[in-house]
Amino acid sequence: MNKSTEVLVIGGGVTGCGVLFDLAQRGFKAILVERGALSNATSGRFHGLLHSGGRYAVKDAEAAEECIIENRILRKIMPHCVEDTGGMFVSTPWDPPEYADVFMKSCHAVGIEAEEISVAEALRREPMLNPRIRRVFLVPDGSVETWEACKSLTESAAEYGAETLTYHQVIDLLTRNGKVTGAKVKNIITGEELTLEADLVVNAAGAWGGKLGHIAGCDVTVHAGKGTMVAMNFRMVNTVINRCGPAADGDIIVPVGSVAVIGTTSVKVPDPDSYPIEDWEVKKMMDQGEMMIPDFKKFRPLRAWAGVRPLYQEAAAGADLRKVSRKYALLDHATRDGVEGFVTITGGKWTTYRQMAEHTVDLVCQKLNTQRECQTATTVLKHGESGKLFKLGQRLENLETKQWRGQLICECEIVTRPQIEAHLAENHTNIINDLRRDLRVGMGPCQGGFCTYRVAGIMHENKKLSAGQANKALGDFLQERWKGAQPILWGQHLRQFQLDEGIYMGLLGLDKLPTALSGQDTGRIAEVETEGYFEVEEAAS
Ligand SMILES: Cc1cc2nc3c(=O)[nH]c(=O)nc-3n(C[C@H](O)[C@H](O)[C@H](O)COP(=O)(O)OP(=O)(O)OC[C@H]3O[C@@H](n4cnc5c(N)ncnc54)[C@H](O)[C@@H]3O)c2cc1C
Repeated sequence: MNKSTEVLVIGGGVTGCGVLFDLAQRGFKAILVERGALSNATSGRFHGLLHSGGRYAVKDAEAAEECIIENRILRKIMPHCVEDTGGMFVSTPWDPPEYADVFMKSCHAVGIEAEEISVAEALRREPMLNPRIRRVFLVPDGSVETWEACKSLTESAAEYGAETLTYHQVIDLLTRNGKVTGAKVKNIITGEELTLEADLVVNAAGAWGGKLGHIAGCDVTVHAGKGTMVAMNFRMVNTVINRCGPAADGDIIVPVGSVAVIGTTSVKVPDPDSYPIEDWEVKKMMDQGEMMIPDFKKFRPLRAWAGVRPLYQEAAAGADLRKVSRKYALLDHATRDGVEGFVTITGGKWTTYRQMAEHTVDLVCQKLNTQRECQTATTVLKHGESGKLFKLGQRLENLETKQWRGQLICECEIVTRPQIEAHLAENHTNIINDLRRDLRVGMGPCQGGFCTYRVAGIMHENKKLSAGQANKALGDFLQERWKGAQPILWGQHLRQFQLDEGIYMGLLGLDKLPTALSGQDTGRIAEVETEGYFEVEEAAS
């Protein structure tokens, strides 16, 4: 099958989605292709922090300024994705005391409203904080919801006629006379191949940007900088807590929904598709947590995961990735490499996606010889029309005031049957992980122990999935959950995991269930792939 468009965007992380919306709003015909679900890679595997810029103020004033400008814009254009948690920079006994004054001055120099409060006041607001902290500064940090943001961006783009193809992987780029003219794309669920012709291709493939550049014959060095994070099973702080010192591993705790996330590490990995979480990383997160919150280690970690930062550098980076710029790079491969029709946008931060998109589309306009003004800084995205910022208790309130009715399917995250049914009706998906991203099913303390089999049952009923297909969806989801649980299996979480094992293996007999071998029911009966699900003894030993 063939399709043609003006601009093809590769990559459905926040950068690609932002570029798509900006293109569509400026009147370009545009298609986005993403090999997985939206925001499945780095944009869905990040720390969730809407930067105030405080983190960069001392070392990188330009990056700090970008953050504070975008922070203010995102609160207005996607309020439903931003929780106004505020942030604290706390000077602990392990941070250089002289950093605090420099920090305050640097924040003010770039326009970040940093205000010092007393330690007593900080402890009143955040009672779990280490009472040994010496100074505390308030900054306008926030917490952001990435899946909702990417959904709003692509749905808003669709209102201007743009198309988004998820689960479509670029397997080759089309070239003619030294110009990139489109891409060959494969639907990874059906196997169908598609040729997409375009006047211009934007490479927004994050840490995979170098691979695509290589296909186009351009030498683009994008390092994959792995960062590991650990989610704790309750929201131990309501404010983003940052250490007031030079950036280091495990120095930020972000309240994200009903949990708190500590992160991150920063390790160069050779392959953005393969980066196991190492024991030392988890241990480091737990040790660092203790410095901000005494007894941190006594609480229950819920899950560990990692993402890969797209770190662009013209020359090869050494081992210390914290020295590679967190700013972004916009590459016109016509002037840089003599390859027309191809532009790369990479690096940066989630917080600065909109600005990255704006500059990318400015370049697209220039290359396609047209002048069209960017309006994304002032356009409220779909679903954000009420202007209300995200509120943690909203789901419970919806349930208690009976705005939401029907059977409660996921008790931890408050997800009801009608919500799941509506999602299934609107989306083509047979993948439970897609429901997790959209509705947060299975993300709470039981990690899907009590809700996943219910969801599989609803999919069976509503999607008319065969038993084999529903079983496969269930098995695939548990396999994904297992990956995040494995690195933190001790104490209370190990107990929870053993309970889940009892439910899925003991009661349900997951390893004996018939399953379809692929996304489509082949009619063949095979056992659910359970390797690794519940190897508790091995992992715990
Ligand atoms: C550990 C960690 C913590 C972070 N924390 C924060 C934070 O708290 N706040 C903040 O502002 N920033 C944070 N960042 C940075 C931020 O997450 C990233 O800069 C941002 O998400 C990158 O978005 P992206 O769209 O460029 O890349 P991605 O989200 O990786 O998107 C690229 C997409 O391209 C797709 N793709 C790749 N190859 C192909 C192909 N051949 N065909 C089709 N699609 C393809 C991938 O599947 C992927 O979805 C963090 C990063 C990391 C790693």
